[in-house]
Amino acid sequence: MKHGSGPASQAVTLDTPELMRDDVQEWIEEWAYTRGVTGTSSTNPSAGGPIRSGAEYIESLRGRNLEVYLLGERVVEPVDHPVIRPSINAVAETYELALREPELGSVISPFTGDRVSRFLHVARSTDDLVRQNKMQRRLGQLTGTCFQRCVGMDALNALHSLTYDMDAASKAAGAPSEYHARLSAFVELCQVGNLVVGGAMTDPKGDRAKAPHEQADLDLFLRVVERRADGLVVRGAKAHQTGCINSHWMVVMPTMRLGPRDRDYAVIGAVPVDAPGIRYIYGRQSCDTRSLEASSLDTGNPGFSGQEALVVFEDVFIPFERVFMDGEVEFAATLVERFTCYHRRSYVCKSGVGDVLIGAAATIADYNGVPKVSHIRDKLVEMTHLNETIYATGIAASYQGHALPSGAYISDEMLANVCKHHVTKSPYELGRLAQDIAGGLVATLPSAADLESEVVGPLLRKYLVGRGDVAVEDRWKLLRLIENMTLGRNAVGYLTESMHGAGSPQAQRIQIGRQMQLGYKRRLAKTIARVSEESLAQDADPAEDGNYFKRVFALRDEDPVG
Ligand code: SF4
Repeated sequence: MKHGSGPASQAVTLDTPELMRDDVQEWIEEWAYTRGVTGTSSTNPSAGGPIRSGAEYIESLRGRNLEVYLLGERVVEPVDHPVIRPSINAVAETYELALREPELGSVISPFTGDRVSRFLHVARSTDDLVRQNKMQRRLGQLTGTCFQRCVGMDALNALHSLTYDMDAASKAAGAPSEYHARLSAFVELCQVGNLVVGGAMTDPKGDRAKAPHEQADLDLFLRVVERRADGLVVRGAKAHQTGCINSHWMVVMPTMRLGPRDRDYAVIGAVPVDAPGIRYIYGRQSCDTRSLEASSLDTGNPGFSGQEALVVFEDVFIPFERVFMDGEVEFAATLVERFTCYHRRSYVCKSGVGDVLIGAAATIADYNGVPKVSHIRDKLVEMTHLNETIYATGIAASYQGHALPSGAYISDEMLANVCKHHVTKSPYELGRLAQDIAGGLVATLPSAADLESEVVGPLLRKYLVGRGDVAVEDRWKLLRLIENMTLGRNAVGYLTESMHGAGSPQAQRIQIGRQMQLGYKRRLAKTIARVSEESLAQDADPAEDGNYFKRVFALRDEDPVG
């Protein structure tokens, strides 16, 4: 495997992005070889049996004729596009983890009795929730980026209880629905093929002060435009869709609380990602075209990246058997709350990515000859403290989970929001400290082509040395990795996605505020301070605006504290 060089004549231009750059292809082959995996020729994952390995997963994505646009052009085959491929590798790693560490990356399917990805499993215990988090941290460590599958996992988990509750409500109203059975059949289908499911929630939203039905353009939230005898036709778009092109199925869901006049927007359904009428417009990532250059030396993370796209639905048909909500506006807010409860503690993924950044900062300090300087060590301690705070709050949210009526377990709402709120801040501080340790070269390093130049290459090798026994290329790679994670392609996932994914910071503050039980806490303080009976009586029956302390002091998983 060679990362550091490549003749300029091999450069792939923007006109031919479907060509796979040689050294990236080499990297992928070595990646597959070292894991002992081989490919298959199947282009239909369900028909070809369950997908097992990363290589089988990658082959399953070929030949789907997806309508993907990147840099103004339609992509012929996303699997072979050098800008897209690293994001596919990141998902492939989830399959590889399931093979290498089955207890962490997989579960026994209740439908097939066979091992399937943990990303397709509905949590049946707090241990299931905790293992989700441990898997996420491990995958963050292995890829240094977003591995994309948590949105689908959290959507399936949220829908399990939501569809159950919707059916119960409709039965009580005398018009029983069958959403839960449909959802269960869909989960079984995905487990039989061991497929990748993406979750599509965020609408473009238009004028944020207006409800969906008030928008000047009614398509700014995904909506039902036609009800046929056999299903629904939807139109609209979903923004920032993580891993959508790398999925086999996509589940569309409403993005916020809806009112009675938003009935057409209250739709949940599963569609194959290659369904007619779907277009993907690939999200630009800082420095993404470095993946098109002859050398991978300037990419920082040649193997892995995240993926987001704008997904446009132009009259896409969803048969009723894949419809899990149709008009029940009163359940839209519950869906969002349950989904974000799962997903906000899924952001422990960033602690795994943070482990990579801490390792990069420690390595560059070592390469610079200053691994033991006290202020460097202190900064590494601070990075670790912030990183473990993310993990601690996420894993605590899972340990303090509880059962819902469907039997699915959900994480603790308060702690999940606290986890995500840390994630909106701490990675930025970790990034700042990593740049502090690395020095200005993170942002001023010349190009790999300059390093190859006969004229200036020797000058760079002379002046960009660090510790004498460290190759200039190795120091270069670490500086580029720190750039990649704090300024480049993977800063999308590590920083901005940390800010806005699963809801921007204010969304968590609202949820934390709803659960903080000030009446309960006032009474604690007044009792200890021995205030007057008159003042104490004001909180004699404190308005319990949440169940957080019931969950804190519940001693058994099954205690009803939802
Ligand atoms: Fe999973 Fe994290 Fe990516 Fe979300 S940001 S899909 S939680 S890896």
